[in-house]
Amino acid sequence: MDFRKLGIFCAILGMAGTAGAQDFSNARIETQPLGEGMHVLFGLGEGVIAGNILVSIGADGVFMVDDQMPELIPKIRRAIADLGGDDIDFTVNTHWHFDHADGNKTLGPDGVRLIAHDASRRMLMQDNVINLVSQEVQQPRFDSAAWPVITYGGEMSFHFNGEQIDLMHFGPAHTMGDSAVIFRGSNIVHLGDVFNNSGYPFIDADSGGTLAGVIEFCSAVIKEIPRTAIVVPGHGPVSNYQGLVDYVAMLSEIRDRMSALISSGATLEQVAAAQITAEWDEAKGDPGQFLNRSYTSMVP
Ligand SMILES: [Zn+2]
Repeated sequence: MDFRKLGIFCAILGMAGTAGAQDFSNARIETQPLGEGMHVLFGLGEGVIAGNILVSIGADGVFMVDDQMPELIPKIRRAIADLGGDDIDFTVNTHWHFDHADGNKTLGPDGVRLIAHDASRRMLMQDNVINLVSQEVQQPRFDSAAWPVITYGGEMSFHFNGEQIDLMHFGPAHTMGDSAVIFRGSNIVHLGDVFNNSGYPFIDADSGGTLAGVIEFCSAVIKEIPRTAIVVPGHGPVSNYQGLVDYVAMLSEIRDRMSALISSGATLEQVAAAQITAEWDEAKGDPGQFLNRSYTSMVP
């Protein structure tokens, strides 16, 4: 799995202008066990952009976090069956972006209980444009059957498969409707795209996302989880507590450098030319989109 390539693909090429226009003919689901009944499902394949799924399979049923694409749902269901699961009972959308929530279009009509932050539900009920800088992706309003039926504002708990599952929102970050989903017993958190582990994060600045918010959100999650926690990012390989701490340190340093430049009157072009991400570019890839969206979120 070349996550780095995938991240760059997501960040630079994006997709063909409309959410749902991907080619899934070569798509496959790969699974990674994370402990008793817990698995990550990666949607992989050339040109496939699909957020990481975390699934809990146990005596109470199947609880899923994010649902990728309708075209992948049959493969996701097969993977869950191979892991010993039955029908999907609950699905959380970490946020409203198509690569994490489009599967609602199949799961909702099938009767799966869909859950999201209040703001993510609102976004799914309207037409949206996701500005990737390289292009704008249209994400049209979902049909009502694909809207979350359970929402929350600050936090909410489930008690399922022998553990407490906390959904927590810490303000605007990647979008305005992000959830951290913390499986307290399994010691695993899914952070959606607030934590990107396949390159620099995408910040949906045109829809209220901010770099400062991403840093604050991740910092709040770090306070919630033990040092032994497993951290599932929206994209890229599974990480851990230290990986999240390092991510916050990197983003904070870049934020400080950018803030100093903005205070001295720097334009976006000057910020982009200042090489403030140089020491991370080899690992994270092209910083262009990240700098553009971060700058946009920081200038008044
Ligand atoms: Zn996203």
